[in-house]
Amino acid sequence: MTNLSAIMEHNEKFVEKHEYEKYATTKFPNKRIVILTCMDTRLIELLPKAMNLKNGDAKIVKSAGALVAHPFGSIMRSLLIAIYELQADEVYIIGHYDCGMSSINTDIIIDKMVSRGIDRELFSTLTHAGVDLEGWLHGFEDVTESVRQSADAVRNHPLMDKKVPVHGLVIDPKTGKLDVIEDGYEKLAAQGNE
Ligand SMILES: [Zn+2]
Repeated sequence: MTNLSAIMEHNEKFVEKHEYEKYATTKFPNKRIVILTCMDTRLIELLPKAMNLKNGDAKIVKSAGALVAHPFGSIMRSLLIAIYELQADEVYIIGHYDCGMSSINTDIIIDKMVSRGIDRELFSTLTHAGVDLEGWLHGFEDVTESVRQSADAVRNHPLMDKKVPVHGLVIDPKTGKLDVIEDGYEKLAAQGNE
């Protein structure tokens, strides 16, 4: 059985038995927060449990490494929509230790692409066209520093509501322990925006 058919088979029963009923909620986050975190598999259930979040409590945006790759890309847009349209009043940037994006070697990724049939010539074509492929694929060395930078980038985004606290945290993917790297309330107080 393929993954897709297993999923569809489960889904039919799920709907039939009304198992969705216990998840009923609205599109607005009850805790009025939006979270940007990593797509890491270990965080699927661990992160919400470790933060005491239930269905309906938060908007959760995910990207590899919890990175905001571009100030006008879809991650930043999601955060802004959550704030201006969906009643999120706080932003949480949550990276994690042992992140796959902290050990990215762009040369190795490019070699893997080539071994799967991507023409090596394409990389020089893209580079000539001004695409910073290495910078785009590259993650970070230190998750703490990366979270700090992402929080700064979101906080200082030109379209960001300056009264919205932006917190930076790092979670342990094994124990669920959260470390606060930046307290968004303190940052606001320091700027006199409390
Ligand atoms: Zn990760």
